[in-house]
Amino acid sequence: MELTRPTPSGIHPEQARRAEELIFEISRAGRRCTHLPGPDVPQTKKPDAKFLRDCPCELPEVSELDVVRHFTNLSRLNFSVDTNFYPLGSCTMKYNPKFTEDASRLEGFTHLHPILPQLAEGAQAAQGALELLYETERLLCEITGMDHFTLQPSAGAHGELTGVMLIAAYHRAKNRKRKYVIVPDSAHGTNPASAAIAGYEIINIPSDANGTMDMARLKEKLNEDVAAIMMTCPNTLGLFENKIDEIAALAHKVDALMYYDGANLNAILGYCRPGDLGFDVIHLNLHKTFSTPHGGGGPGSGPVGVKEKLKKFLPVSRIARNTDGTFALDYALPESIGYLAPFYGNFLVIVKAYAYILYLGREGLIRTAEHAVLNANYILAALKDYYGAACAQGCFERCMHECVLSAAALAAHGVHALDIAKYLIDGGFHPPTIYFPLIVKEALMIEPTETESKETLDRFIDVMVRAAKLARENPQALKTAPLTTPVARLDETKAARDMNCAFL
Ligand SMILES: *Cc1c(COP(=O)(O)O)cnc(C)c1O
Repeated sequence: MELTRPTPSGIHPEQARRAEELIFEISRAGRRCTHLPGPDVPQTKKPDAKFLRDCPCELPEVSELDVVRHFTNLSRLNFSVDTNFYPLGSCTMKYNPKFTEDASRLEGFTHLHPILPQLAEGAQAAQGALELLYETERLLCEITGMDHFTLQPSAGAHGELTGVMLIAAYHRAKNRKRKYVIVPDSAHGTNPASAAIAGYEIINIPSDANGTMDMARLKEKLNEDVAAIMMTCPNTLGLFENKIDEIAALAHKVDALMYYDGANLNAILGYCRPGDLGFDVIHLNLHKTFSTPHGGGGPGSGPVGVKEKLKKFLPVSRIARNTDGTFALDYALPESIGYLAPFYGNFLVIVKAYAYILYLGREGLIRTAEHAVLNANYILAALKDYYGAACAQGCFERCMHECVLSAAALAAHGVHALDIAKYLIDGGFHPPTIYFPLIVKEALMIEPTETESKETLDRFIDVMVRAAKLARENPQALKTAPLTTPVARLDETKAARDMNCAFL
């Protein structure tokens, strides 16, 4: 296969060429990775013919070196947090220390069978794992100010669905039908989707001039048909919703419940607790705030915390502590909404979160929030004159863990957020989230995370400033980016549907 574009920076052309080959193309008949010894006992019974293949299995036939080099070269074509700054707002991979990977690979955890706790002779072997789950629930309660947690949901959106189902169970138990869930337009897009899947109609409230909940519109819409108000905090504009007290009081007056989307809890860790602010239900993303790398659909975990009044509806199974200090699983919960996921959720993701929380401790978690917010504000301050006017109301002076800038002012030169994103790739940076939140024209949503150094942030700012200047002086230069990747711009819709025809 001929390379038609310059090779990615830092990659030898030969490596890039190898990476473009499919593993099936390097397959050679009869080549093997491993050679298993033949059986040293006589074969006693032939397998039933119906279990035998009638055509050869079309797997690539390659040597061990072929496999290792193929996947290593492929991995080098990708951006990753291990190679580059990755400021993908909202869904950022935050701090993912390697030691939590070690913790989650301990054989005592990986070799456990999930059925063990239910077996009389297995419960003993599972005590450590059960204790870890129990302790993680307690720690998350302490961090968020909630009374109980379930660790079962497998993702943020799955946690939202769980939370809204708990809210529905709460109203059902009071024999009343509520029809609506209120979601501000600055909420994460999964919020209205989750509430709709749980059977509610959505009332959308636009943000006010400050980028937060419009109180007048909320009061207009809030009544006894409303089951809950779902708030993302900080919201997708990177702003803290500063009228929560008032909103919670209004909601509770009509016994609507307050839902907190805490996917990005790293913005407020140790500074405030949603449970103290008046929220009744919360989900967290362990795969964002608590150390599990994500992307590519990898394993996630979206634990849900609730106030006491919702405890009896939590999914089974629950981890219970016996009077003798041992741990067991409790299924005797007649009002539970049932199973949300098999067993106890993504256990090894929970192991990482537990290790991470213990490692950082109270002080460390507080520092996390401070650095996340400081870094985002550093970028906002440096770039707002180049990429201002984040929304109709203008650019905000301060933000939480992420800032939302806009390329709208560059549109007059024919330059869009996408062009800035592509140019950043040539500068060695992963693009920020673009065109989200939807309420911001030409949005560039930047989340630097808590662990980046000032030097890295400064280099990123330099490239962003250079891009803004180029947009005015030589917009064509932005249109041709990226020049350093094996392929340039893809038809993204086509890329998802037809991998062979994605190249423009
Ligand atoms: C990422 C995110 C979600 C969804 O989490 P998934 O694990 O991707 O389902 C929800 N809300 C917010 C604010 C998020 O950033």
